[in-house]
Amino acid sequence: MVDYHTHTRLCKHAVGVMEDYIESAIGKGFSEIGVSCHNPMPDGYDLEHRMTMDEFNQIYKPGVRNLQQKYSGAITIKFGLEADYYPGTESFVKNFIAEHDFDYVIGSVHYLGAWPGTELIPAPIFERVVVNLRYEEYFERVRQLAESGICDIIAHFDLVKKNGIRPGNESNGVDDTMYRALRAIKENNLCMEINTSGLRKKVAEIYPAEDILERAAEYGIPLTTGSDAHKPQDVGSDFEYAYSLIDKYANGKISVFSQRNREEVDREVLVDNNKT
Ligand SMILES: [Zn+2]
Ligand SMILES: [Zn+2]
Repeated sequence: MVDYHTHTRLCKHAVGVMEDYIESAIGKGFSEIGVSCHNPMPDGYDLEHRMTMDEFNQIYKPGVRNLQQKYSGAITIKFGLEADYYPGTESFVKNFIAEHDFDYVIGSVHYLGAWPGTELIPAPIFERVVVNLRYEEYFERVRQLAESGICDIIAHFDLVKKNGIRPGNESNGVDDTMYRALRAIKENNLCMEINTSGLRKKVAEIYPAEDILERAAEYGIPLTTGSDAHKPQDVGSDFEYAYSLIDKYANGKISVFSQRNREEVDREVLVDNNKT
């Protein structure tokens, strides 16, 4: 099994060091884990959820390299990153990514509007029409992310539902913008993650929802898996379910990355490799 979406205490809102996550993955029989802490951003953007440039250079990057050596033979460790997409910061983020040899970059939309950011749709509930507009704005932003060239994997595609606040049926605009975002993912040859953290949030539903995965499968969008663990024991959380979705919507093929090259591997092969 492969878990490509994990955080550490460098992200300020997660607990445990990288090695705790590696040990957890080994304990659960994983063949491959990727670390994907939030990227440094310019001008003090959202400092409470990410590492600084110094932390990246002094702790994160050398830490991954050390653990890759230490655990070679036990588990494959990939050097990943979760990169925020926020208009105005694209060139900073692109230049940063180009300077380092990541295995993969997960792209995310976490905030709309002015920052320091607020939740995508904070409780209490807005007027229904505002909720619809917020969803449209969110999926439009995800489309821009897909077209930005920043990432290899689109994170938690329908994160906007996180607090369980849903759009009304009266608007086709939400579906239209969502389908446009999916098409942009396909046209830009990107992969989408099945992210199990939604099951641990108020919405209590996987990202993306199954009806979206069904559409993604029609488009032929490749999939990978991530727990978005913010504590070591969450590595691989609900992955039996995630893998049943891989079987259903990606013909049992999971995308793995090295040096930002994607390969779609039969997950049965991963299981066999792990046994030998
Ligand atoms: Zn995220
Ligand atoms: Zn994350």
